[in-house]
Amino acid sequence: MADAVVIGAGPNGLVAANLLADAGWSVEVLEAQDEPGGGVRSARDVHPAFVHDLFSSFYPLAAASPVIRGLGLHREGLRWSHAPAVVAHPLLDGRCAVLHRRAIDTAAVLDADTAGDGAAWLRLCTAWERLGDDLVAALFTPFPPVRPGLRLAARLRAGGGLRMARTLVLPVRRLGEEEFRGELGSLLLAGNALHADLAPEAAGSGGFGWLMAMLGQTYGFPVPVGGAGSLTAALVSRLRRHGGTLRCGARVTSVVVRSGRAVGVRTADGDAVPARRAVLADVSVPALYGELVSRDDLPTRVLEDVRRFQWDFATFKVDWALEGAVPWSAPAAAQAGTVHLAEGVDALTRFAAQIAMGQVPERPFLLFGQMTTADGSRSPAGTQSAWAYTHLPHRVRGDAGGAGITGSWDRTDQELMADRVEAQVERYAPGFRSLVAARRVLAPPHLEAQDANLHGGAINGGTAAMHQQLVFRPLPGTGRPETPIAGLFLASAGAHPGGGVHGAPGANAAQAALRSRSPSRLLSGAQRALSRRGRLGRRD
Ligand SMILES: Cc1cc2nc3c(=O)[nH]c(=O)nc-3n(C[C@H](O)[C@H](O)[C@H](O)COP(=O)(O)OP(=O)(O)OC[C@H]3O[C@@H](n4cnc5c(N)ncnc54)[C@H](O)[C@@H]3O)c2cc1C
Repeated sequence: MADAVVIGAGPNGLVAANLLADAGWSVEVLEAQDEPGGGVRSARDVHPAFVHDLFSSFYPLAAASPVIRGLGLHREGLRWSHAPAVVAHPLLDGRCAVLHRRAIDTAAVLDADTAGDGAAWLRLCTAWERLGDDLVAALFTPFPPVRPGLRLAARLRAGGGLRMARTLVLPVRRLGEEEFRGELGSLLLAGNALHADLAPEAAGSGGFGWLMAMLGQTYGFPVPVGGAGSLTAALVSRLRRHGGTLRCGARVTSVVVRSGRAVGVRTADGDAVPARRAVLADVSVPALYGELVSRDDLPTRVLEDVRRFQWDFATFKVDWALEGAVPWSAPAAAQAGTVHLAEGVDALTRFAAQIAMGQVPERPFLLFGQMTTADGSRSPAGTQSAWAYTHLPHRVRGDAGGAGITGSWDRTDQELMADRVEAQVERYAPGFRSLVAARRVLAPPHLEAQDANLHGGAINGGTAAMHQQLVFRPLPGTGRPETPIAGLFLASAGAHPGGGVHGAPGANAAQAALRSRSPSRLLSGAQRALSRRGRLGRRD
């Protein structure tokens, strides 16, 4: 019998399993899909000569995360690669905002467009230099982040206190208006805010856009050499070296609870897998509460809170194998790994408003990835392994683009939406379509079929809006991985600090499990019984 069972081999599940194994626990990871990785996978399945990441691609959060860095994944063969520039945001008139890895270079781009905006950018960078380390530490440690939180509070006080705190909670539109005279600085912040489901008018979107931009400038937007799957392979190889086991094709259908304590899990094919000390769930919040854990084992208040749980936006992704480089009208865009496509902050507002109203956006805001620019091993020289994703409402009530996309995501919907995405790229890169050698469309149901946590195409384990952050994440409470069931811990992006590949929810859950009290002898008896019974066809 393993000390811990981890449900799900996404990055958070694998980080949790690694940390438990480091502490000497025996760990068994059960993964529903035929391969590990969750949101972090890659393959040559769009075109044999091209590596495509299935979902996530750029890992500034992993690079910044003390959790991931602490695992020493370079010892498992993981290598990182960078594009010459981090992010570009071209406009139709040929201007282009570019985030570089040196603040002075980013500032020069903004200053060349509007004198004075370079200095404004450097002021935002000064605030980051003062607060960045403590902010990252506070973000990636269990909530409440007592020590880094105190250091952060002290630095905030020293550096303008309430005024800086105000800056961080500003909507990104307002932050841009306050800091810049031109458009490009605002665009860099607003495009980065929309990596989460934060509209330009949302409180806190300014702080989030600033954080992502500063992380990008400090750590770059690195990619694993050879594909996102190299990161997962490194996590799995480390886990196995430390004695952990991973079983794929094993979907967990329930957490077995005895006298208020999790004692194991049951899989779809009837296996009962006992856990001596803890069960860690790298699954979504609604899947854990009410599906895997029976409603009968949960307090009414938790069930009420789950009813109010909010997903982040749905997602639509297209992957392309391109025969040549993307013919951007703004040449600077060719240097960046990530390119944001939207014609200004107003266009971002329109996009987010249409999603809020249940409309398929007329002009999708695209995050566009140039993977061969970031890592030459992804496709033959002169070609480009590319993708773009955009967001959608979960429940489609209409199509703002007038093409009649219904939200059923049948073949017709998929083709119409993929064409709309391509038309948006074509506006910034005329001739793009003629380069497409192969394409793959991933509509919301495809995302969920490949990873149950991506419910309806949500990519961040729940909204990043303020009402579901910190003490409100995942549900109003303490912001911690503990659940109402003893020995059961939430280890996924649904938990604080949320989506992205940084491993913090997994690490927080592992630490909480390691600190938790061992079960009583009586409960160990229940676990042994579960172990003896092995394969069970019935739920008891
Ligand atoms: C299209 C897309 C693009 C993204 N881009 C980026 C990016 O560039 N950078 C970034 O940092 N983040 C990005 N993200 C977000 C990032 O991938 C996720 O936040 C991250 O993968 C969350 O990790 P996780 O371990 O919590 O969950 P997941 O990665 O979703 O893994 C959960 C795992 O649990 C398994 N599972 C679920 N239920 C069960 C069950 N009942 N039994 C057994 N196994 C189960 C799933 O199959 C899956 O393998 C992107 C996501 C998507 C979808």
